[in-house]
Amino acid sequence: QSLFNNVPLAPVDPILGVSNAYKQCTAAKKVDISVGAYRDENGKPYVLKCVFEAEKRLLGAPKEYLPIDGIPEFNKVSAKLLYGDAMNGKEKNMVTVQTLSGTGAVRIGIIFVRKYLPAGTTVYISNPSWANHHNICKESGVPSAQYTYYDPKTRGLNFEGMIADMKAAPNGSVFVLHLCAHNPTGVDPTKEQWNVIADVMKSKNHIPFVDCAYQGYASGDLDNDAYSARLFLSRGFEMFSAQSYSKNFGLYGERAGALTIVSHNEKNIPLILSQVKMDIRAMYSSPPTHGARIVATVLQDPELTKLWIDELKGMSNRIKYVRQKLLDALVARNVPGTWNHIVDQIGMFTYTGLNPKQVEVLVQKYNIYLLASGRVSLAGLNDHNIDYVADAIKDAVT
Ligand code: PLP
Repeated sequence: QSLFNNVPLAPVDPILGVSNAYKQCTAAKKVDISVGAYRDENGKPYVLKCVFEAEKRLLGAPKEYLPIDGIPEFNKVSAKLLYGDAMNGKEKNMVTVQTLSGTGAVRIGIIFVRKYLPAGTTVYISNPSWANHHNICKESGVPSAQYTYYDPKTRGLNFEGMIADMKAAPNGSVFVLHLCAHNPTGVDPTKEQWNVIADVMKSKNHIPFVDCAYQGYASGDLDNDAYSARLFLSRGFEMFSAQSYSKNFGLYGERAGALTIVSHNEKNIPLILSQVKMDIRAMYSSPPTHGARIVATVLQDPELTKLWIDELKGMSNRIKYVRQKLLDALVARNVPGTWNHIVDQIGMFTYTGLNPKQVEVLVQKYNIYLLASGRVSLAGLNDHNIDYVADAIKDAVT
């Protein structure tokens, strides 16, 4: 007998579960295209040179507790990185706190939504989205719903459906929007479409909650990728943003991120900060030092920043190269269907359109691990395995 006999088994995380299955697979030939973490052209994890250089400078840095809201310089450079020139004097209307990476930023922000937005405010999440958005809302006790996003027929954006759902949602709803490089579809609105989205959101008093996990990864250009967040800020929205440095700095396990809340009323800022700090204090007291110090070191040093931008371009260019190679390999094999969406989509992923049965063939017969939804993390592909994957896709599809 045990007190815990009634604890049910929780479902396996759809992403981490596949990645673990890959690790346990003992086959000589296997491919991991499941988890969204960058790999170099030899399939190896990659520590950025700018990070390595910053770490050299940080050797021996004190291990004291950080303030509850993190390193002030880190918070400052984070807000600047995302909002750039759109800040334009709005610093006084913003509060930025260091968080446990992007997930922590979303979590703290969603708790704030539950506590300080009108009761029952619903958080709208794109269909599909990073599955953790749903977990976070559920665990935070916040009602959530989905808005139309992806069109399986075109393998692109269902813009009309998205706008219709925004119009139909109760005024003052929160919309979680992916800054760029939408996960899992790789489908982003155009700049013109973002402007229409902003118009509709304004007319409905909706609140943007911009999840920024891939700034710099989509186009290789930090400013271009930040377009939507800067648009919302310059259009005068009260809004949230959650930044992650996992992908663009390769700091996955260091848990470096930032939450920013923007208010029309400057007087609210210290009050908002006080509440956010109270939540952080009760949850994990204060954030970790190392990753945020690395980011602050790089972003405060023009030379290291230049090195970072070059490396970021290098990573995003490799992903673009792999997209084209995969498309070429499928076309060369006359694989039935259209595959252009692989190069039309953007960021770390392609939503292939492979169905769960076809995915099953890839996993069971070829030890190629990807999500059941057909999402492929392109970072796991390289010149050594693309032909193998293309052969396997041909077999699965025909
Ligand atoms: N949001 C999106 C859309 C993501 O894809 C991810 C990571 O995959 C995150 C947030 C959070 O990432 P992390 O907590 O690892 O920084």
